[in-house]
Amino acid sequence: MISLGQSLGATEIGFSDLSLLPAQKRMNFEHGISVVIKLSDGILNQIGTEPTQTYFSHYRSVNRLIDDICLRILLALEAQGYPSVAIPASQSVTDPKDPFTGAFQHKTAAVLAGLGWIGRSALFIHQRYGPRVRLGTILTNAPIVAAEPVTKSACGSCRACVGACPAMAIEGRLWEPGMPRNQLYDAYACSQYMKEAYHHIGRGVVCGLCVVACPI
Ligand code: SF4
Ligand code: SF4
Repeated sequence: MISLGQSLGATEIGFSDLSLLPAQKRMNFEHGISVVIKLSDGILNQIGTEPTQTYFSHYRSVNRLIDDICLRILLALEAQGYPSVAIPASQSVTDPKDPFTGAFQHKTAAVLAGLGWIGRSALFIHQRYGPRVRLGTILTNAPIVAAEPVTKSACGSCRACVGACPAMAIEGRLWEPGMPRNQLYDAYACSQYMKEAYHHIGRGVVCGLCVVACPI
């Protein structure tokens, strides 16, 4: 799976044991395969006080690539007799209790795969590339060797993302495993700010200021 994913353009492939999560949350699958794609530094470095059209296009292109890679891995797993589910890179589900979440949290699998931690910004922070990554996940029961999860934030005393957020949506707390997202940041405030301030850039679905502020 690593060589298949990387041959298709993935930066890294990670493997996690999801069995500690509630069965419903992981759709009764035991394992996660995380697909990581690093975002372009050249494009992110263009972001100043607001996102760019180029960043919006890049964000969508990377999501499409992740979905393609996840589909190819899914088909390979199913050809070996393991029905699996690929979670789309960017998809919100209709949940009145948490309208800004997906069917499965990619960052949960990525942290359990030992690839990084959750930042004060609630973004996934890759050990090497910081928040400059996008993630996909395949849920499967295929046998895998899972990595050791990351259980501690490495944000330390940094608060760069907190000060960079124009919506004041980031609470500033250090992440701990199991912490609900709303203790880290206000997804509604973030979404509303993007819709209003950046409607002229991709209809207000990207921002990126907390991404480019991160020193990691
Ligand atoms: S995406 Fe923008 S508005 Fe949302 S938390 Fe990050 S900096 Fe704040
Ligand atoms: S900017 Fe600093 S506090 Fe925020 S996620 Fe990055 S390292 Fe953590």
